[in-house]
Amino acid sequence: MKKIKYAFFSLFLFLIVILPAFAENYEFDSNWEYADFSAIHSGHSVMYTASGDKKNFVVAVNAGHGTSGVGSVRTFCHPDKSPKLVSGSTAAGETYSVAISSGMEFQDGTPEGTVTLAVAEKLKTKLLEQGYDVLMIRDGSDVQLDNVARTLMANNYADIHIAIHFDSSTSDKGAFYMAVPNVSSYRNMEPVKSHWQSHQALGDALIAGLQSVGVKIFSSGSMEMDLTQTSFSTIPSVDIELGDKVSDHSDAALDKLAEGLFNGIVAYQGGEVSSSNHTTPSHVDNENPSDQESGNGSSSGGGAAPDVDLNWETGDPLTPPSAATDGCEGVIKGDFKIFLQDVFTLLKFAAPLLVIVLSTIDYVKAIANQNADEIKKANSRFVKRLIAGIAIFLLPFILNLLFEMFGLYGLDTCGIS
Ligand SMILES: [Zn+2]
Repeated sequence: MKKIKYAFFSLFLFLIVILPAFAENYEFDSNWEYADFSAIHSGHSVMYTASGDKKNFVVAVNAGHGTSGVGSVRTFCHPDKSPKLVSGSTAAGETYSVAISSGMEFQDGTPEGTVTLAVAEKLKTKLLEQGYDVLMIRDGSDVQLDNVARTLMANNYADIHIAIHFDSSTSDKGAFYMAVPNVSSYRNMEPVKSHWQSHQALGDALIAGLQSVGVKIFSSGSMEMDLTQTSFSTIPSVDIELGDKVSDHSDAALDKLAEGLFNGIVAYQGGEVSSSNHTTPSHVDNENPSDQESGNGSSSGGGAAPDVDLNWETGDPLTPPSAATDGCEGVIKGDFKIFLQDVFTLLKFAAPLLVIVLSTIDYVKAIANQNADEIKKANSRFVKRLIAGIAIFLLPFILNLLFEMFGLYGLDTCGIS
């Protein structure tokens, strides 16, 4: 009985310690650099910590779009409040852009934000399995974080930032990333100046990763775009467009995309590009624009607005979010929830079985020995085991009570029964 008590106690401790550590809410901090530039930041991101062979490397996975009720809220395009340089969805010369847009709809009506979240979750699972920690910038159908806030979450909590998008074209043109425009004033503005080369390196790695699993690549794999994300990023940061409105977004297709992104991340993190190098590359210090090398074979010189994710920063009416977040959102999610459910289910079935088997052995022994004392003992053990079995049955309920008592995250058992 003592052993069972210890086992119970350990299980409680394990669950109480592990649950919050595995998936923890990360909040926006108004003291951060550039925090004043964000208009929407009441939401939180969720940090998933890998177990096992840890890489100690945090990947911010930003499922594009999925911020409801934004309306016409606008934010500065650039940290120096200068106007946009490259015409995209927001025209060159504009000082403000929409804080965050609702995204496009696939040709079959599926919202972009639904598909980007599906890819993000697949990528998260792959990364966690291989020991990478994952900051899910958006961990549900909606998060109240605009483009600046998402970028700052990544800046402050992660090593790299990958924003997942699909383009609004209908030509099935393939995947590409948004390259930093080759405009000297832009590349000389901090924090772009110190980080644009790492953005390009990460983008190139992601494209190579996607290519490695056979994903169709658009042109040279990049297109220049003056984005809020890159304008405020202080870590390697990429907006990757994984396809467009007519792209296959079946489960299998999204698996392949996530696999490609994962390969790119591994190559980037393990490759010659140092992840911890967040400082200015020495050869960017040169103020002479003519010395600025073109980052890569960008396909657009920054002229006319390309056919590219036009809702990214437009003020289109917003798509209503599919569901409000519940208390479980971001606390127990996805694979871990399935795992927990499996553990509870196993315990539920194993406990009564164990009670029956152990007690039967006891009774058989006692009867075989014709010992009244042993039968008494067997009776008492049976009762204790029965109580233990019932306790295991009630574990999710007990946990729920405990969490409520200690006010931990207002957590419930999130559907685990
Ligand atoms: Zn998008």
